[in-house]
Amino acid sequence: MARQPGVRADLDLVCRFVNTRGILADNPHAREEIDTPDTLTAWWEKQGFTDIGTADEDVTEAHVMREGLRALLAKHNDAAGPEDEGALAAMRTLAVELRLQADPDDDVAFLRPAETGTARTGLAWLLVAVTLGRADGSWPRAKVCADLNCREAFRDTTRNRSRTWCSMQVCGARAKQRTFATRHRAHPE
Ligand SMILES: [Zn+2]
Repeated sequence: MARQPGVRADLDLVCRFVNTRGILADNPHAREEIDTPDTLTAWWEKQGFTDIGTADEDVTEAHVMREGLRALLAKHNDAAGPEDEGALAAMRTLAVELRLQADPDDDVAFLRPAETGTARTGLAWLLVAVTLGRADGSWPRAKVCADLNCREAFRDTTRNRSRTWCSMQVCGARAKQRTFATRHRAHPE
């Protein structure tokens, strides 16, 4: 199926964008993929969006959007972090400036950014994905890992939408260990 970013909700795009920063503490996967205008443009090119221009301040706006989206996804998982309220407020201030337009006769990008060729075009594409996801009901399936030292974004494909961790082997296992240690302290044998 051809990509239709303005017709279908591209939740994977949202998750990949959030995961350009990995915050897992004490972990080799800690990373920042968007730290200069060039890396921001390169990231969008990799996603197939080739007309996203960037300047220095655009990196800051990308980070505001990213951490706001992370906070939004955490709501789907009761996984709110201490910075989430501020991150959400900053993202909403930015998002109201992003304008979208709709062409009822466009089968490829019905809903799309009104502005083209700027860094905000990219941020508006993310807003398109959120909007379409909210409209088609898929949005609550985009989540972040409930481990506050991790917070990787993922798409929950389980039937009953019950997934909590990015990975059962890593964060799920760590949570189990913690629960076990707490119980063990509470009921020493
Ligand atoms: Zn995780």
